[in-house]
This record gives sequence, structure tokens and C-alpha cells, in this order.
Amino acid sequence: MTDATLKSIDTYVAKVLEEAFCTPFLASDGNQTVINTASIARDPWLEYRLPSVIQSSEDQVREAVEAGQREFATGAWSRLSKHSRRELLLVWANLLEHHAEQLALINCLETGRSIRSLVDHSLPKAVRILRWFAELTDKLEDRSVNSGEYGDDFGLIRREPIGLVAVILPWNDPLVTMAWKVAPALAMGNSIIVKPSEHATLVIREAISFAYEAGIPLGYLQMLTGDGRVGELLVRQRAVSKVAFTGSSLTALKIGSQAYGTGLKRLSMECGGKGSFIFGKKGENIDGFANVVAKNMFYNQGQICSAPSVVHIPNKYKDRFISAVLDASRAFTPRHPLSGELVGLMISKAAVSKIREELEALDTKFFAIKPSDQPTLSFPSRSLYPTVLVDLPEKHHFWDAELFAPVLLVRSYDCVSEAVYHSNKSKYGLSCGVWSRDIDECMEIAGKLRAGNIHINSWGDDPNLVPFGGIKESGFGREKSIDTLGEYSFVKSIYYKPQVP
Ligand code: NAD
Repeated sequence: MTDATLKSIDTYVAKVLEEAFCTPFLASDGNQTVINTASIARDPWLEYRLPSVIQSSEDQVREAVEAGQREFATGAWSRLSKHSRRELLLVWANLLEHHAEQLALINCLETGRSIRSLVDHSLPKAVRILRWFAELTDKLEDRSVNSGEYGDDFGLIRREPIGLVAVILPWNDPLVTMAWKVAPALAMGNSIIVKPSEHATLVIREAISFAYEAGIPLGYLQMLTGDGRVGELLVRQRAVSKVAFTGSSLTALKIGSQAYGTGLKRLSMECGGKGSFIFGKKGENIDGFANVVAKNMFYNQGQICSAPSVVHIPNKYKDRFISAVLDASRAFTPRHPLSGELVGLMISKAAVSKIREELEALDTKFFAIKPSDQPTLSFPSRSLYPTVLVDLPEKHHFWDAELFAPVLLVRSYDCVSEAVYHSNKSKYGLSCGVWSRDIDECMEIAGKLRAGNIHINSWGDDPNLVPFGGIKESGFGREKSIDTLGEYSFVKSIYYKPQVP
């Protein structure tokens, strides 16, 4: 980002940040009333005072749900022609693209993620997702079948919207995770209430305001603000037909019991992971492998659900890999988030001190570079130098903990079946990968790995046509692809039996 660009958007952000409160968007009068001004603690890393996030009240949650139901019943969105829905979603995508730098800046101020990574990757990705589902809206066909049991009978098999969908979001990639859910849910004609993370509310609020500017009705896309307690109130509403969640496995477990406490609901859970990347016996190009590992492990200070957090490497290549990954990781040193460098900060001082304490408790023999040899950082209380740990003891809890920090674990192996065994021992099952020149070795390992997404000779490439999601404690449900539409629709069968004269 140039200084001039930063300066011009600074004025815009200063205006946004003048607001005292980050309020919900409700399709009712409650919208205007600040009922509860309890603010949620944020951890600003610049001198900016971020607007306090309003803890939406129980009444506001109820009003949002009633309004969502009411609006859904009018069919103002779901009965709009598919062509018009497509057009409005495309206008929304264009507005997000047009305001990408402003949105990136707000996201950066809220979470400390580098503005360059947001402008170059996160925003364009969110826009592409929205466009992809927009384009799909008027291309979908329903089916009709003739059973032949009653002559010219037929069954019309239609996809219909489920109704009211609660979308609950994390802070680590708020716009992408929002687009993954809201785009297919709107494409299918549902009414949605978004509950963003309390740590990334303002950016979602801005993005949703552009949806209204595009012409998407407020009653079909509301937003509640607040922390997990607001999420819980929303999930417990009987009238919510589906909860689409992205966040930690622990929260997903809570949501499961809350949701079913008030009747049956559809659920999709996109949770954390501990991705294993296996360098096969027939792997080549260790430098290329190390670059792919470093990029996908360290680009957002390791705060990535699908990071390749454990590398399995044949014993004979261990030293070469460690030297290559240390070289590659230098490009991912955390810097000032507005500096135009690739990597910014972690989400909070608390998150940094927790992981630092854990690292300090380890014997220095496990570190590929000793902490005392690492360069001094400009925001030491909000960031961590990329850390590589080698052959930790078998029982160490790091092997299966989602650290959400730039900490890569390396495990050396003699036999590739050990690597597969250890990968599959994880309680998580989101992303895994294999690197080899031998297609048979790749396919054999890919077939054995227990995870929702397997990368071969790459990591993190994310075409919209390919579904994404986990198994085991990484959750269930899928994002992206045509398969996802089933998450936001139900199949209605309308059966016609001819009258016998
Ligand atoms: P989190 O679980 O702490 O919070 C996620 C959301 O749930 C927030 O909006 C929070 O307010 C809300 N919430 C908390 N308690 C709730 C409750 N009892 N009922 C309803 N809602 C509640 O997660 P986080 O720290 O915001 O995000 C990081 C996590 O998200 C990591 O585990 C990461 O792996 C995961 N993640 C997964 C994916 C994926 O696609 N699989 C993508 C991004 C992040």
C-alpha cells in the first residue's frame, strides 16, 4: 500500500471509528435503541480507539428472529426472480471490491492482520466466492421424474430455502468465512442473521452495509453484535432452522447442545485443525516443499484453521528440510500491519503470552532456532517469530493441539506408514497433504489420510468448485462448491398422480 492510499483511506476509517458503538442491524425498531452499552474488551495495537461492540440484548435477538421470519414469509427475496437475485449479489460483490482497501484497513485495525495479506488475498477471495455463488443462482435446475407406476405421473424435485439461518463467525478470516456461508444461503433464498466475532465485528458491519446498498433487503440479512452469549441466545431460538458455524471445536460442542435444546435444527460446523503434511519417500525439491510449508503455516502468524502444522519428513532429509524451512520462514517475520509486509500481528496480547509461556517451558534442544537467536520484533507483546520445533516427545500435547500461532512441528520418520499413522491419530481431520514425485505414492497416502481435504504437491489452493470442510473434531458440513447448496436448502418433492377417468 502506498502512503497516499493509506492517507486517503485513513480519513474514511477515522470517520468510521468516530462511531462510539458498533451496533446491530435489525429489521425492527430495536435497531435504533442502544439497550445495553456493555462494551467488549478489544486489544487495539495502534492509538485508534475502536468502537465498542454492543452486546445485543435478549429482546433484540428475539426481535431479529421474529423480523427474519416475518420477512421470509413475505418472500421479498426468496420469490424474487433468480436472475434478479444474481444481479443484486453481483452488485454487492462489486461494492466489496470497490471498497476492498477500506474493509481491509478496518479488518487490520480490529485483528492486527497485515493489510497487504488482506488486500492481496482475503478480500479478493471473499469477492470471488460471492461472485461464484451469484453466478450459480440462475443456473440451477430442479428435476422432474416419471416413476411410471401410475402412467404419466411425475415428481417435481425442488430445492427450497430452509428459512432462517444463523451464521456465526470467527475473527481470523471474517469476510471469507462470511462469504462462504452468506453467499450460498442468499443464493438459495434464505433469511439470515449474522453474528460476527466480537473481535471482528466492524468489518462485517461495513460489508453488510454494502449488501443493503446493493439492494439486498434488511430483513433477509440482519446482524447481531456481541460475544458468545449473544450467539447462544440466537442458537437457542426455536425459529432458527439452521446454524452455520465457523469457530473452535469447543464452541461447536456447546452450540450442538444449545441448538438441540429447543427443537431440531440443521447444523454445519467448520472447526479447527492440526494439518499434517507428509514428504513422501519419493519426494523431491525440498526447497519448494519448505516454501509451501512456510507460506501456509506462517502467513497469518499461524492463525489459520487449515495450516500444515505438522511436517513428517524422512530421517535422511530432516536436516536439509529444517535449514530450508528456516530460510523460507524469514519472509514471514511479523511486522507493522500497515507496513505493506506480508505478516502482521496475532489477535491479542493474551494469545501471545499463552503460547510464549508454553514455549518457554520447553527444552531449547527442540527448537530449530533458539528463541535467544531470533530477531527482536517491533510488537513483541502481539507477535511471535516463526518457530520450528523438531521431534518433540511423543506425549507432548502440542502434537494434537490447535495452537493458532506460528509454531511448526517437525517429525522425522523411517517408514511412511508411521507418518500416516501419526497424522490419523489426531483428533482433528481438516486438511492434510502429501508431497512426492510419484503419483502412486501420492494417491496411496491421500487415500489413507483421514481428513476432509487432502492437498497433493501443494497446500491451501482453494478453488470454489472444490468443497472444503472437516471430519472428526474439525466438524462437518462443507463450504464452497455446488455441494454446499444442500446445506442451505431442503428437497421438496411435489408428486402428481394423474386422475383415472
Ligand atoms: P470461537 O469458537 O471462540 O468463536 C467463534 C464464534 O462463536 C464467535 O462469533 C463467538 O462469539 C461465538 N460463540 C462463542 N461461544 C458461543 C456459544 N456458546 N454459542 C454460540 N456462539 C458462540 O472461535 P474464534 O476464536 O473466533 O475462531 C478461531 C477458531 O475458528 C479456530 O479454532 C479456527 O480453526 C476456527 N476456524 C475454522 C475455519 C474452517 O473453515 N474450518 C475457518 C476459520 C476459523
